[in-house]
Amino acid sequence: MNYSKKQDLRKIISERKKQLTENRSIALSKKIFFQLESLSAFQSAKVILLYHSLKDEVRTHDFIEKWKEEKTILLPIVDGDNLKLKIYKNSSDLMIGAYGIEEPNGSIFSDYEKIDLAIVPGISFDAQGNRLGRGKGYYDRLLPDVKAYKIGICFAFQVSEEIPTEPHDSKMDLIITEDGVISEI
Ligand code: ADP
Ligand code: MG
Repeated sequence: MNYSKKQDLRKIISERKKQLTENRSIALSKKIFFQLESLSAFQSAKVILLYHSLKDEVRTHDFIEKWKEEKTILLPIVDGDNLKLKIYKNSSDLMIGAYGIEEPNGSIFSDYEKIDLAIVPGISFDAQGNRLGRGKGYYDRLLPDVKAYKIGICFAFQVSEEIPTEPHDSKMDLIITEDGVISEI
C-alpha cells in the first residue's frame, strides 16, 4: 500500500520539478550549500559522502570542486543492486556509469567508519527525516553501513508533509533546503 503512495508522491514532485529552470536550480543549490557550510557537522567533517548530481537534483558539482582539497569527498558508484564508494579526485577522472551518473574511477573506499558526514539526495523528505528515493532502494541498502550523521538535501518544494515509509527505509538526521534547516527531527 505504501508502495503506491510512494509512486503517487514521486509523480507529484516530478510535476513540481518541471517548473524549475536551470538558473533557479543553480541559485537554490548555492543557498542549500551555504546552509550546509554553516553547520559545525560540516565544518568538522573530514570525510564526506556526497553525490554527483543529475540535472534534476540539487547541484553538487561546484560544491564538490570547492571542497575536494580540504575534505575527502566520497561519491557513490552503482554496482549492480548496490552503491559502492570511491574518492573524488578530479572532474576529469569521472566516467559515466549506470543511470547516466558520473562516477570516480580508482579503488573502492570501504572504511565506512571513517565517514564523518553523509549528504543524501532524495525525491522528497519530511520533517521527521524520512526519505523518498527514486524507487530502487539504493540508499536504503547503503546507509545502514554508514553510521555517520546523515543530512538529506532538497529544494523546498520537495519537502512533503509525510513520506509513506516501509521498515527498510533509512532515516535522515537533518534536512536542509534553501530556506534553512528543518529541525523537527
Ligand atoms: P527508494 O528508497 O529508492 O525510494 P523504496 O524505499 O521504495 O525506494 O525501496 C525500493 C525497493 O528496494 C523495495 O521495494 C525493496 O524491495 C528494496 N530494498 C530497499 N531496502 C532494502 C534492503 N535493505 N534490503 C533489500 N532490499 C531493499
Ligand atoms: Mg526507501
